[in-house]
Amino acid sequence: MKQRKPIVIANWKLNGGLDLICTSVASFIGKHFAAQIAICPPYLYMRDMMTFLQYSELQIGSQNVSRYESGAYTGETSAQMLKQAGCSLCLIGHSERRAMFAENNEGCKIKVNTALNHGLLPVLCVGENREEREANITEQVLYKQLSEGLGGLDLAGKDLCIAYEPVWAIGTGLAATPAIAQQVHQYIRAEVTRLFDQDTANRVRILYGGSVTKANASELLQQPDIDGLLVGGASLDPGHFVAICEQAS
Ligand code: PEP
Repeated sequence: MKQRKPIVIANWKLNGGLDLICTSVASFIGKHFAAQIAICPPYLYMRDMMTFLQYSELQIGSQNVSRYESGAYTGETSAQMLKQAGCSLCLIGHSERRAMFAENNEGCKIKVNTALNHGLLPVLCVGENREEREANITEQVLYKQLSEGLGGLDLAGKDLCIAYEPVWAIGTGLAATPAIAQQVHQYIRAEVTRLFDQDTANRVRILYGGSVTKANASELLQQPDIDGLLVGGASLDPGHFVAICEQAS
């Protein structure tokens, strides 16, 4: 039994539609999981998905959140809107948003704070790319992402998740080995202790993401500092995603 409640999150990215919503929700009906389970569909489908949620334990998350509360920010969706719509959590600083939409650590920190203020569980995504791993600077990269993305926030009593997603593992089929992932998760927890305190480090849930499948989920989840999984490609197959969720207990 894990000290922290396990959490498994599906990131559908720019995929899926009404068919996938129906088949995904249907595969969760009547099932009980030890873990907290959430799906992050594209914004447009959240409301459709929510109409089915009374029949399952699934939660809805968003793939992003605006750093702004309201105003002239075309294309943005605020934390308050997401919360009011029934969202439970939001991903922040996914590597695709950092690489393709110019998101930086400073913006991530504002988003984490905004999410916390509105009762959304923030899931801050961090991770090094292939060049950085090969140059042996993974810890430096993570230190910068964590200290600039979280440093100075008031996390007392707050629920926070950090997703370690090595960029070289995302969508490549090359998942980090459980040993490598555990080593990095341990470093992240130690860094949270240094930035905040032991209580915060004990509470923060650290998820692994990057080519997770039903074949590698169990061994990853057995690592002491791996508290959950963030699943991309494999979450688009409802049966496969349920099989991953069943391994988190
Ligand atoms: C992701 O992009 O968050 C992710 C984990 O993708 P995949 O599982 O497809 O590697």
